[in-house]
Amino acid sequence: MSTVSIARREFPMWIGGQLVRTSSTQTITLPYDGSPVADVYVADAAVVERAVTAAEAGARAMAGLALYERAGLLEEMRRLLARDAEEFATLISSESGKPIREARFEVERSQQTLIASAGAARDLHGEAIPMDAAPTGKGRWAMTVREPIGIVAAITPFNFPLNLAMHKIGPAFAAGNSVIHKPAENTPLSALRLARLIQEAGAPEGAYNAVTGPGELTGDLIVSNERVAMITFTGSVPVGQKIRSKVGLRRVTLELGNNSSLIVEPDADLEMIVPRCVTGSFSHSGQVCISVQNIYLQEKVADEFTSKFVEQTRRLRIGHPLEDATEISSLINVNEAARVESWIDEARRSGAKVLTGGTRQGATIEPTILANVPSHLNISCKEVFGPVAVLHRYGALEDAIARVNAGEYGLQVGVCTQDMGRAFRAAQSLRFGGVIVNDVPAYRVDHMPYGGTKKSGVGREGPRYAVEEMTELKLICWRA
Ligand code: NAP
Repeated sequence: MSTVSIARREFPMWIGGQLVRTSSTQTITLPYDGSPVADVYVADAAVVERAVTAAEAGARAMAGLALYERAGLLEEMRRLLARDAEEFATLISSESGKPIREARFEVERSQQTLIASAGAARDLHGEAIPMDAAPTGKGRWAMTVREPIGIVAAITPFNFPLNLAMHKIGPAFAAGNSVIHKPAENTPLSALRLARLIQEAGAPEGAYNAVTGPGELTGDLIVSNERVAMITFTGSVPVGQKIRSKVGLRRVTLELGNNSSLIVEPDADLEMIVPRCVTGSFSHSGQVCISVQNIYLQEKVADEFTSKFVEQTRRLRIGHPLEDATEISSLINVNEAARVESWIDEARRSGAKVLTGGTRQGATIEPTILANVPSHLNISCKEVFGPVAVLHRYGALEDAIARVNAGEYGLQVGVCTQDMGRAFRAAQSLRFGGVIVNDVPAYRVDHMPYGGTKKSGVGREGPRYAVEEMTELKLICWRA
């Protein structure tokens, strides 16, 4: 059990260094059992306008900080996060229903994101341009510099409420921008607590503003405000498409969904990859954008993989998210769990075999493994975002690659083989933002470039890459 207890209390919004309340409130509940955890406020148009004005002042102040000062701010945020790690982990677990052990890991990863962001601040630079490579450039000199773009609106999903926020705030600060953050409606608590941490770390007023409320109201007001220079969004494909249709000529990064696949060749190291699949498919009940959903097994290895995978999955401990031993807890709410259950039932009716799991209790779905699933069904070709793995069989590697490439998403994919030649050929053929060899597609470190092709989105995260998206490249050219 977490050593920090969170008594139910209110979490006001944070704008321009001040706590902000409205007359409209919302209760945040523990997804596992629906018990109330905290109360937050719903922002209206006036509050969003106030946040934009505060963020304009914040952007001017952030742009005035030298790179070492931006890096110092991010390093201080990391130090404070390490100090308050257990409180943040408890908040994350309480708002999202994520097992506390995974929430603690998220806090550790958030610190890594801050370390990488501080590094990106110190390393922010342009380049010299060899103007005289063209005849009309003779006698000219030029260089590029990276300048802040202004206000960055960060809109984040429920599944990693702290670290996905950090992937936007960290690079935005490194670039010299201010942030208006709209966390997911169900999971705003860690962001609202983060506001106090950022203030304590010494950020200028207005550098970070946290505004809460439903996406279609508060989120839309922020996205539609032309004074916001860039929207960096992580979430679902339909909302990403809606945001894209509204940004016009402004900058946008969209980190969207996936139905991640892993290809397992006959020479794969099963002792290594089977437990990785158990973690990769069922962490946070599969509510991870790169959760292992489709596993393509070469016929020679399929039976052995399947029996080991089923046996290890059955050992997972289901329970209350704040219990230390819990490995599987609830989904974000009962509606989402009912949707996942209906997709499992649809597969059953189409002849799928349930090898383990398949049941729902309230918002909790038992870790589920399915076989004989027609690939056109939702549970395989759409993003399930629940604790479900679908096993497929194949003969030739080329066939598995073609089936994986035929999908509509393109975030990350995994290939497991000891044969480096085959691994490289597969990596070259797979049309994804990232190809992970000899591990699950759910593998990620926070400084690597991360983002998708096709319906998985546009732009890249990982602080060094996000900073490029969050700065204007300016050319300065002069006649010698
Ligand atoms: P979501 O429903 O798309 O919501 C994401 C955020 O957008 C929330 O803050 C939401 O607010 C807000 N929003 C909703 N409608 C909006 C609108 N019209 N204008 C502006 N903002 C709006 O996603 P989710 O259910 O929280 O998260 C699950 C999805 O995120 C999955 O598809 C998953 O794959 C994806 N994801 C992707 C990555 C990645 O890096 N590629 C990482 C994690 C998750 P409300 O909560 O108030 O509706």
